Amino acid sequence: MKVIIDPGHGGFDPGALGPTGLREADVNLAVAKRVANLLSPSVQAVLTRDGDTSPGTDVNTDLQNRATVANGARADYFVSIHCNAADNAAANGTEVYCYKFGGKGEQLARTIARFLVPALGLRDRGVKEANFYVLRQTVMPAVLIELAFITNRVEESLLRSPLFQAKAAEAIARGIGAFLGIGDPVDGGNEAPLGEELPSEAPGSGGGTLMSAPGPFTDVAADRPTAAAITRALERGLIQGDGEGSFRPADPLTREEAVLLIDRAINYLLAKVKAAGITIDG
Ligand code: ZN
Repeated sequence: MKVIIDPGHGGFDPGALGPTGLREADVNLAVAKRVANLLSPSVQAVLTRDGDTSPGTDVNTDLQNRATVANGARADYFVSIHCNAADNAAANGTEVYCYKFGGKGEQLARTIARFLVPALGLRDRGVKEANFYVLRQTVMPAVLIELAFITNRVEESLLRSPLFQAKAAEAIARGIGAFLGIGDPVDGGNEAPLGEELPSEAPGSGGGTLMSAPGPFTDVAADRPTAAAITRALERGLIQGDGEGSFRPADPLTREEAVLLIDRAINYLLAKVKAAGITIDG
């Protein structure tokens, strides 16, 4: 059983911002990582990102790649985690979306809401249909969770709290577990109990596996063994691709290109070392 856990936004896109500056992308990621940890290992929980990154280069490719990679990974379910936003600062509450009523997407959304709404204790805005890109373009049953309104001052402060984030993650994991009939992933899980110091996780740690996000390259499949390294190299500015969305992973490297690549990698490291206040000879 493979479930994609999709923390919305990230990288160039912080998502919605709270009145005191809380970034939606950070909340989504924190909750998503905990959900993935809780579900593992009974479920193969695959994160679309596990750092402040985007699988795309703009809003369009970001969403396209989330759906494309989920479809390519042949996942059974897709669960996207977001915080809501509204011009009206008083808007509040929790809601869960599916693409169309009448299928497994709706059932999954209702099961998650049944656990999530009472756990968070906020207004129940219900389960709704929405024509969101990641719900429409994923081939597996998909849901999108709006935990609370980050634009609401009270809910922003809740969303910032690691305890609230943990409560949300546990409820989502319980909902998924109940829907899949695998029992309670929280009691049987490997996560720190509520109220304990929450461990800060290094990227890639924990039970969830990172979906090998293809970045903007159309020819680097998610399950390619080098996909994660290629994504890192792109994020670090070491490689660029062919400018048309492809990486051409099997193309040979000239001696000149090899030197440029090594030079960029060393410069990248030297900049990191310098930023850390350490002086070494380059
Ligand atoms: Zn969002």
